[in-house]
Amino acid sequence: MLTDYHMHLVDDDVPYDDDSFTLEHVGRYVTAAAAAGIDEIGFTDHVYRFAEARDWFDHALWQADAVGDLGRYHGAVSAARDAGLPVKVALEVDYLRGREQQIGEVVGRYDWDYLLGSVHWVGGLAVDWELAPIWDRYPADEVWRLYCEDLCLAAASGIYDSMAHPDLAKVFGQRPDQPQALYRQIADAFEAAGVCAEVSSAGYHQTLDELYPDPQLLAMLHERGVPVTLGSDAHAPQRVGRDFPRALAELHAAGYRTLTVFDGRERRQEVFDV
Ligand SMILES: [Zn+2]
Ligand SMILES: [Zn+2]
Repeated sequence: MLTDYHMHLVDDDVPYDDDSFTLEHVGRYVTAAAAAGIDEIGFTDHVYRFAEARDWFDHALWQADAVGDLGRYHGAVSAARDAGLPVKVALEVDYLRGREQQIGEVVGRYDWDYLLGSVHWVGGLAVDWELAPIWDRYPADEVWRLYCEDLCLAAASGIYDSMAHPDLAKVFGQRPDQPQALYRQIADAFEAAGVCAEVSSAGYHQTLDELYPDPQLLAMLHERGVPVTLGSDAHAPQRVGRDFPRALAELHAAGYRTLTVFDGRERRQEVFDV
């Protein structure tokens, strides 16, 4: 079985419009997935695009984005699933240290098939966004240390089912001095928390031409029996399942044979073909 468990209904700099939350628009992704041999897709729009998350963080960029209606999003994807389309209702939810209670309260208002956890912001600065860069503030080693700390706290928070693009801090090519120690910290934290790790083919297209996570980290996750979800992080239908054969080959080489499938936050393992 093949799944793509990370995609967005609109691009990050495109506002939602009346077409965004229609069965027709959701159907475009389903059609693209079927053409790519994918059995099931999960929608994971960014929680920060919705007004319900506005008061989590007072940064001007965050405030400007938080205008959508989470109920409308949830309703549109749920309607597609309930109409029999092979779709999961999910959300990519930023982790913001100290805001766990608010985050849990907002996502708890709706039923989800799974929740992806993402660390995009650390200490009020962005890891993967040039407009509010943490990289100007701290040396790379310190950014990585802070990023890993928050990623491990996010995993332990109990809010999330799978941790998205776990080594996102490599996005601009900055590396830690001692990657092994940090990777071990991440793998131990995921194992202890019982969360999945996301394997994301988006990394092939973000400067580095590398999978998230790094092969060394992927091997450590496999050693500890941490299950994986697979995602393209598509922001348009034609990106669904992008470069999955390459990602699956890497997963297979690391020893993985199954992908995690979610249903109402219950998970099971399904064998994938390479
Ligand atoms: Zn993300
Ligand atoms: Zn995403």
